[in-house]
Amino acid sequence: MRRVITPPGYDWPVADCLFCKIVAGDVPAKRVAESGRTVAFRDINPQAPTHVLVIPKDHHPDLAALASSDGGLLAEVAVQAHRVAEAEGLADSGYRVVFNTGPEAGQTVFHVHAHVLGGRRLAWPPG
Ligand code: AMP
Ligand code: ZN
Repeated sequence: MRRVITPPGYDWPVADCLFCKIVAGDVPAKRVAESGRTVAFRDINPQAPTHVLVIPKDHHPDLAALASSDGGLLAEVAVQAHRVAEAEGLADSGYRVVFNTGPEAGQTVFHVHAHVLGGRRLAWPPG
C-alpha cells in the first residue's frame, strides 16, 4: 500500500477499506477511467450492461462526508460519472447515477462511490 503523509489523526488509506485497496492497486479492478482525484472501475456484480463505480481516491465514508470535503471533489466525481457515461455511449440514451447512503439504502462499502448504470431501460421507482 502506498505511503502518504496525512494530518495527525487522519487515517488514510483506511486499512480495511476495500476501495482504498483498489485505489492503491492492492486489489485488482477493471479500471475504465481515472482523473487526478478519482478512479472509475467496473462493478464486480453488474446490475446493468454498464455498471461502473466512480470513487474519490481519498477515503470518505459516504455522500455527506464527500459533500463536506474541500475543493470540489464531489463535482469531480460527478464530472467523471458523466465522462464514463459518454465513453460507454450512454450520454444520449440516458443513464442513472446512484449514491446508496446508509444501511437502509443498501450501502455495503463505506468508501463513497457513485454507481453509473445504463445500457437498459431502468425502472422507476427503484427497488
Ligand atoms: P453499495 O452496495 O452501494 O455499497 O455498492 C457496493 C458495490 O461494490 C456493489 O455493487 C458491489 O458489487 C461492488 N463491489 C464489491 N466488491 C467489489 C470489487 N472487488 N470490485 C468491484 N466492485 C465491487
Ligand atoms: Zn476507503
